[in-house]
Amino acid sequence: ARKFFVGGNWKCNGTIEEVKKIVATLNAGEATASNVEVVVSPPFVFIPLVKELLRPDFQVAAQNCWVKKGGAYTGEISAEMLVNLDIPWVILGHSERRSLLNESNEFVGDKTAYALSKGLKVIACVGETLEQREAGSTMEVVAAQTKAIADKVTNWANVVLAYEPVWAIGTGKVATPAQAQEVHFELRKWLAANVSAEVAETTRLIYGGSVNGANCKELAGQPDVDGFLVGGASLKPEFIDIINCAS
Ligand code: 13P
Repeated sequence: ARKFFVGGNWKCNGTIEEVKKIVATLNAGEATASNVEVVVSPPFVFIPLVKELLRPDFQVAAQNCWVKKGGAYTGEISAEMLVNLDIPWVILGHSERRSLLNESNEFVGDKTAYALSKGLKVIACVGETLEQREAGSTMEVVAAQTKAIADKVTNWANVVLAYEPVWAIGTGKVATPAQAQEVHFELRKWLAANVSAEVAETTRLIYGGSVNGANCKELAGQPDVDGFLVGGASLKPEFIDIINCAS
């Protein structure tokens, strides 16, 4: 069975004081669900602080890393550095980076393969825009994004695939459980046909986009939804409710 996975993407938010508060709330929260993997992703500069304060049953992720070994790449953080700081996870290919920073499918595939090669675990993100959905090309878009990753990745054991429709991110317009299930089902089918039946069966497919304490339960009940990547609500106490929703 696939272990339920709940990620909290804090994006570019927080001060030292706010970070301490969020962590204190998480530490006090009763995670009643057994068998849930919880990973929070603060901005780079706060990761050491979060690691120091966070309860040991929760893990941390970086929100990005460089595509190859470090060097003369001003402003970048390398996979080696994350490993050096004992940061187990990294989010790659988030739609905000794809759209605002022009990260291509190929670049995200290269980054994913490099991060995995250094021992990091990767939350790789895919998802269509509203225009693409309305044009009926949702599956074509997410398959192309997933293919660019599959072209470079040989071992999927340390990959979680996050389906985050761009139109649902930060908009309050969550995908319906049926919409999420449909894409997750198709993605799993794609993995079975293009990678292997085993990878399709074992890879966690998580949903992201306006997930909150009120809508998580029904989404989590879908057979191919194996967890969530949560933005806004991961900064709030209701993140604990989302962690517990699969129980
Ligand atoms: P929201 O939960 O704020 O919509 O963000 C989702 C997201 O982008 C997580 O990576």
